[in-house]
Amino acid sequence: MNIEQNQMQQHIAHIEQRITAACNKSGRSREAIQWMAVTKYVSPATLQHCFELGIRHIGENRWQDAKVKVEQYGDRGIWHFIGHLQSNKAKDVVGRFNVIHSLDRTSLARALQLQAEKLDIMVNVFVQINISGEVSKHGVSAEQVRNLLTEVQACDRLKIVGLMTMAPHAADPEQARPVFSGLRQLRDQLIDEACLKSDATELSMGMSNDFEVAVEEGATMLRLGSILFQGPRELS
Ligand SMILES: *Cc1c(COP(=O)(O)O)cnc(C)c1O
Repeated sequence: MNIEQNQMQQHIAHIEQRITAACNKSGRSREAIQWMAVTKYVSPATLQHCFELGIRHIGENRWQDAKVKVEQYGDRGIWHFIGHLQSNKAKDVVGRFNVIHSLDRTSLARALQLQAEKLDIMVNVFVQINISGEVSKHGVSAEQVRNLLTEVQACDRLKIVGLMTMAPHAADPEQARPVFSGLRQLRDQLIDEACLKSDATELSMGMSNDFEVAVEEGATMLRLGSILFQGPRELS
């Protein structure tokens, strides 16, 4: 094992310890939570190290950067598209990514549906919600989500697996707590109202600086980048 892999293995152990601690604190089962390695920062060679260390879930946020990695390693991973997606890129990501986390508008739903029909496949999607209301964040507002869900349910090639959000970046991870609990409450409410199917329970939330709070608030899929790939000196 080279130095980089060694360091990554330590980071993985550290991440696992912290997820387990957050599970214990909040009475959740470790099995209810998965995390993806967000590899947008790293080269294909480093991505290969991820696979060798047993990581399967991979997240990328731009098709242009992901392309060479997906083409080289497509069948080794479970691929998550987590970035803002332009409708004209639907043809690139549908069929190559297993899950799309950033469905936030009707026009994109239609573009994904069209491409899925062409390929005769189903596409798993998270509906991205802008809980914080920050204008810089993508995602549908909590007020608009019911309209969007009605449109998405009409697309028979799209399977909604749950909701996704991004918290505003803050030095104190506690500031993300209301965003994460807000997403959980919105999910429960939408399922109650039958706007979401009862199996669309997944919550994609929590990044390197706030994932423990996300676990405590019900996350089922964490998106971890810098904590996995940064050097040891930056680890707190
Ligand atoms: C980059 C990115 C992440 C990972 O962020 P880190 O803070 O490096 O863990 C998670 N989600 C999305 C949508 C991203 O673009």
